[in-house]
Amino acid sequence: MYTEYKNARKALIDRMGQYCSYCEARLPSGLAVEHVKPKKPPGATQVNQIRALSWDNFLLACVNCNSTKGDTDVIIADYLWPDSDNTFSAFVYAEGGIVRPAQSALSPKALNMIKLVGLDKQLDEDDASDRRWLNRKEVWDIAERARQRLVAGDTPDMREQIVETATGHGFWSVWMTVFAQDRDMLYRFIACLPGTSTECFDVNCMSVIRPGGQC
Ligand SMILES: [Zn+2]
Repeated sequence: MYTEYKNARKALIDRMGQYCSYCEARLPSGLAVEHVKPKKPPGATQVNQIRALSWDNFLLACVNCNSTKGDTDVIIADYLWPDSDNTFSAFVYAEGGIVRPAQSALSPKALNMIKLVGLDKQLDEDDASDRRWLNRKEVWDIAERARQRLVAGDTPDMREQIVETATGHGFWSVWMTVFAQDRDMLYRFIACLPGTSTECFDVNCMSVIRPGGQC
């Protein structure tokens, strides 16, 4: 328990990196301490102090994921969560910045999460404030160009540079998907993102998912 939830921000960043827990965007600033269950759910007259201050109820979120989710009073079991479930296995990332549920028994929960924070939202040309899809698409293209350069001239330095580029841009799952055939790069990506559970991956860096979705 914290006395102020804002004081958890540093510990959350140490644990999960400076990324939105939902869309995986890297944010130099503006990362909010996100309450998984809203601290003041719809209809409540006052803040629920347990929810407001409990570490177990915290993630990090960008303004778009935070505002799309709003104060939805979620039932935890209806969704897959990035700090307790193997969300990498449950979602498919594809060229064009696409995110969709993987075909599995968990796909309804994965779809619930995509809808909860709007990971499938495309750019509204008039508003243009929600750039998550566009940014994910751009990072896919950057990752693909990096992969092609690596094929053309593979060096340890270049591999390290790609990891630095990936950590600078975020969208970890995009990098993991584009380099899916390169086990060494997968090892590097798994190692570079704080808090990534190695138990979610087998010795070949293939994602391991358990029936309940947990790592
Ligand atoms: Zn986000």
